[in-house]
Amino acid sequence: MIGSYRTSPVWHPFTQHRLDPVLKKIIRTEGAYLIDEDERPVLDAISSWWVITHQHRHPTIIEAIGTALERFDQIIFAEYSHEPAEELAKGLILLAPPGLAHVFFSDSGSTSVEVALKMALGFFHNGGAPRSRIVVMEHSYHGDTIGTMSAGARGIFNAAYEPLLFDVDTLPFPAPGREQDTLDALERFCREGKVAALLIEPLVLGAGGMKMYAPHLLAEFQRITERYGTLLIADEVMTGWGRTGTLFACEQSGVTADILCTSKGITGGALPLAATLCTPEIFDAHLSEDRSRTFFHSSSYTANPIACAAALANLDVWRDEPVVGRIQALAEMHRERLAPFRSDPRFVNVRQQGTIAALDIMAGTKGYLSEVGPKLRTFFRQRDILLRPLGNVIYLMPPYCVTASDLDRAYEAILEAADLIETGAL
Ligand SMILES: *Cc1c(COP(=O)(O)O)cnc(C)c1O
Repeated sequence: MIGSYRTSPVWHPFTQHRLDPVLKKIIRTEGAYLIDEDERPVLDAISSWWVITHQHRHPTIIEAIGTALERFDQIIFAEYSHEPAEELAKGLILLAPPGLAHVFFSDSGSTSVEVALKMALGFFHNGGAPRSRIVVMEHSYHGDTIGTMSAGARGIFNAAYEPLLFDVDTLPFPAPGREQDTLDALERFCREGKVAALLIEPLVLGAGGMKMYAPHLLAEFQRITERYGTLLIADEVMTGWGRTGTLFACEQSGVTADILCTSKGITGGALPLAATLCTPEIFDAHLSEDRSRTFFHSSSYTANPIACAAALANLDVWRDEPVVGRIQALAEMHRERLAPFRSDPRFVNVRQQGTIAALDIMAGTKGYLSEVGPKLRTFFRQRDILLRPLGNVIYLMPPYCVTASDLDRAYEAILEAADLIETGAL
């Protein structure tokens, strides 16, 4: 049996077990660090897949979880409500771009996007003029369920499932100098009057390679969608909670989407939770004496009270601690360290949006399967730095507590990797 050399029955995500047979265990987390089974501190330079915002195990959040556990476990979220969810919903509405008024809870980023798509289609269905086309952007990522894969970029990640994926209209990525093509394509799609929603990652396309576009474009997208009665869905699952320099990325464009999806950093990264926020128009389209207009969606762990309590504590952290100052300081540290890479011919597309820094290393082929990706991962792992390049795209998205010397170590490792690649040693 091919798998029999393995000692664990666990099947890990995005892991080719033939190539990565043994995964070390993490026994504890602390600040910006994962402590592995050999007691080695590993710098978590990608915030454990983009979920940890302030730090691992922020004391305020951990304490709130403990307190909530004294009263709650999971509670059915139809028939009854509970205080943590009620308070959190109010808090989210206050923090989100103005105009969003309702909060639908779920438990992962993918689900929050599925919910958004269903809200959009329900809105048009209940309004008596059904629309079902979805417009997305080239290189986008919205999750790994069938629906969100349909909306995301097609490639090796979903080739096997392609026959089941629904068709969407795709905008070209607004590369510098090509912005008008993107706007024209959006206008062309919307003009047909069948587009229910533009689903978009604001400012930074994460899994698609940390591709960044200017905030004013998002505002222009909204002007176009508004003109044709198309809904704008902002997938802020990755960009939310400070990652791009503001609490939500949409703020930089002065945009309130009709539907906003948030997850990852909503609990500071401590527990799984997601929320889909929408405008009164979308909620009201589902409001009726007619029960067939109900919003038919739920998952068992919807609005888990412990997770809601963690998210509420996260709001306290945002209110009581200088989070914005920390984010600005981190952005400044990135800016200083990225500068020399801009004139280094071994790197291209050196870019930054708030706390996210990214650069493409010129080695081998491009794309996710670029052979340089796994080599770099191993190289960084040997230096106790958790970095998972997306193909030849190296990016840093550390927790906000990361120090200047932590960052120095990460950037020095990137330079060292480039040196080794140059001499053929990597
Ligand atoms: C991670 C991510 C998702 C999916 O979130 P999960 O919690 O992994 O399901 C959706 N959209 C974006 C932009 C993401 O980065």
